[in-house]
Amino acid sequence: MGKNKTIFVCSECGNESTKWLGKCPACNSWNTFYEQKVVDTKSTNRSKEMRSNKPQTLNSYEAKETIRTSTGFAELDRVLGGGLVKGSLVLLGGEPGIGKSTLILQICDKIKGDGKVLYVSGEESAEQIKMRADRLGINNDDILFLGETDIDVVNQAIIDINPKLVIIDSIQTMYSEEITAAARKC
Ligand SMILES: [Zn+2]
Repeated sequence: MGKNKTIFVCSECGNESTKWLGKCPACNSWNTFYEQKVVDTKSTNRSKEMRSNKPQTLNSYEAKETIRTSTGFAELDRVLGGGLVKGSLVLLGGEPGIGKSTLILQICDKIKGDGKVLYVSGEESAEQIKMRADRLGINNDDILFLGETDIDVVNQAIIDINPKLVIIDSIQTMYSEEITAAARKC
């Protein structure tokens, strides 16, 4: 863990300062500065090293067919361009009540491949999701449930379990201890 640094950010315009200011010099708003902790991690250490990356001819690259995992639903696989890509992120959006949670649970049940599915819920309880699973006739020991909103705890669970699929329901309920002001801005 690197050393922590504190900066102050104007909630009106995003202007940053190393000191707390009563009035923002950029947008002239009063009392808009809030403290934000910045954690120095690998990313900043990395920037100190010289990165070497040189252009190469496109022809020198090999076109590898991306390995995709079937969700178990042909229509959904088609929407995803042939299934889920390992290491990729898919954002599932839509109006409340259109069936996102139901679809997600069905994917958890039907997705191909070895390994567990980690279902992280920051909104609904395990009991609520179990009720939905029962209603859908889903009885699958590969689905693990974690009721959590701390993204660092979720991250550790992912490292421990190494699941084939992680569901985060929903992403806006997650927060990080390392970015203290994040939840306030949303
Ligand atoms: Zn400002």
